[in-house]
Amino acid sequence: MYMEKIIDENKQGENLILEHKESNSRKLFIESYGCQMNFSDSEIVASILSEEGFNTTKSLEDADLVLVNTCSIRDKAEQTVRKRLEKYNAVKRSKNPKMKIGVLGCMAERLKSKFLEEEKMVDLVVGPDAYKDLPNLISEVDDGRNAINVILSKEETYGDIAPVRLNSNGVTAFVSITRGCDNMCTFCVVPFTRGRERSREPQSIIEEINDLASKGFKEVTLLGQNVDSYLWYGGGLKKDFKKATDMQKATAVNFAMLLDMCAKAQPKMRFRFSTSNPQDMTLDVIETMAKHRNICNYVHLPVQSGNNRILKAMNRLHTREEYFELIDNIRRIIPDIAISQDMIAGFPTETEEEHQDTLSLMDYVKYDFGFMFAYSERPGTLAGRRMEDDIPVDVKQRRLNEIQALQREHSHYRTKQNVGKVQEILIEKSSKKSDAHWSGRNSQNTVAVFPKEHYKVGDFVNVKITDCTSATLIGEAVGYSDNN
Ligand code: SF4
Repeated sequence: MYMEKIIDENKQGENLILEHKESNSRKLFIESYGCQMNFSDSEIVASILSEEGFNTTKSLEDADLVLVNTCSIRDKAEQTVRKRLEKYNAVKRSKNPKMKIGVLGCMAERLKSKFLEEEKMVDLVVGPDAYKDLPNLISEVDDGRNAINVILSKEETYGDIAPVRLNSNGVTAFVSITRGCDNMCTFCVVPFTRGRERSREPQSIIEEINDLASKGFKEVTLLGQNVDSYLWYGGGLKKDFKKATDMQKATAVNFAMLLDMCAKAQPKMRFRFSTSNPQDMTLDVIETMAKHRNICNYVHLPVQSGNNRILKAMNRLHTREEYFELIDNIRRIIPDIAISQDMIAGFPTETEEEHQDTLSLMDYVKYDFGFMFAYSERPGTLAGRRMEDDIPVDVKQRRLNEIQALQREHSHYRTKQNVGKVQEILIEKSSKKSDAHWSGRNSQNTVAVFPKEHYKVGDFVNVKITDCTSATLIGEAVGYSDNN
C-alpha cells in the first residue's frame, strides 16, 4: 500500500539538502519522487554518503554525483524521471563532464540493467534494499565502470542507520517500520520493486523516536507499505512467522503493540502512521489509538474500488461489505476519526454500474480526503500481464473527474463540521498564502491556518475554527494547548 506525496509530476522532485561536514569534499545532488518511503530512503542514502565524503548541494552544475530516487507506480511518474535524466545528461555534456549519474528506488529495481544497457543515461543503478552497498558501487564508478546492485533482501530494514533529516521543518519526521509487501494487489508494482514484507526491530524504532524528540521534533509518522502487517519476532520475513519458535511467537510485537510502545515512550509527541490495508487492519490498532491522546485520530484506509467484482480482480482480499463493517467499527471506537482513501478509476473491465458502486461507497464513508488516479497499467504486474487495459482514456478521465468532484464535496462537508470548535494544531510552517499566518494540522490531519501572533513553529496551539474551505480550516489561536 502506498500513499503518494503529492508532487506535480511535471515539476522537479524535491531536492534534498543536509548540513555540511567541513571534512567532506564531494558534492551530492539527490532528488526524490513518489511515496513518503522514497523521501525517507533518501535520508538514509544521504546519511550513508555523508560518511563517504559527500555533502549535499542544490546545484546540479556543481554536483560530483547526481542521484534520483524514483517511483514506478504510474507510467507518468516514470516519464518524469526520464525527462529529469535527460536534463542531468544535458548539464553533464555542457557544464560538468565529471558528473556521475545514478538511479535509485523502484524504477531501478524494475528496469535493472536495462538502464545501463539500453538507456545509457546512467552510471549507477541501485535498488531499494542495496543502499548500504553504495560506497562500493561508487568506487566502481570512480574506476570508470558502470555499477549495479538491485538484489532484494530478506533482512534489510536500515534499522542501524540514523537517517539525516533533509530539508526538515524540525517539527515532523518519518520513521520507517516495515519494508516490502506480501499482498500482491494485481495493479501494484511494490511487491516486485520492494520485495517481501519484513519489520524493523522495535528497539531501534524507539531509539530513533527518542533521538527525534531530543532534537525537538514533535510529530512522527510511522511508515511502511502496509503498517498493519508489522510483526517483529526476532527478524526474518513476515511469511516465515509460522516457523518461529514458541518463545519467538510469545514475545512477538505486532503493530498495535508497537504503537502503544511509541505513544508511551514519548507521551508529548504526536504519532501518525501510513499506510493501512483494510484486509490487514485489526481493531486492536484502533483501540490502541483510542487509548492514547498522542496517537492522531486519522487513518489512511485505501479501498481502490467500491465494487466486489473489481475488488476481487484487484486481489484485494475484502469485500465492500467487510469494508463498511470495518469503517463502522472504527467510527464506533473513535467517533471523530478522519479517514482518507486511494481510488483507482477505470480498472480493466470496470463497467458504469461498477463505477457507480465506487461513488456510492464514497457516499457511505464520506472520506475527509483522498488520492485518486486513473488506472495506469504497469508492466510486470498481474493485471498488466493478464488483463487488457480496455477502458478508453476519455472514459477513465470522466470517471476520475466524478470521483474527484464527489471527494471535494465530502471534504467540504467534513471540514465544515469543525467550524465553531476549538482544535489543537501543531504549527509546522508559514502559510503559503500569507506570511502573517501559521500553517499546521489538527489530529485529523486537516490543515489549519491562523494569525501568527506570538506563537512559533513547533508550538501546540488551541485554535478556534471560524471558517473553512474544502481542504483548509481557518481560525484564531486562543492559547497554548497543554501538550507544550
Ligand atoms: S500490493 Fe497492495 S497492499 Fe501491497 S503496496 Fe501494493 S497496493 Fe499496497
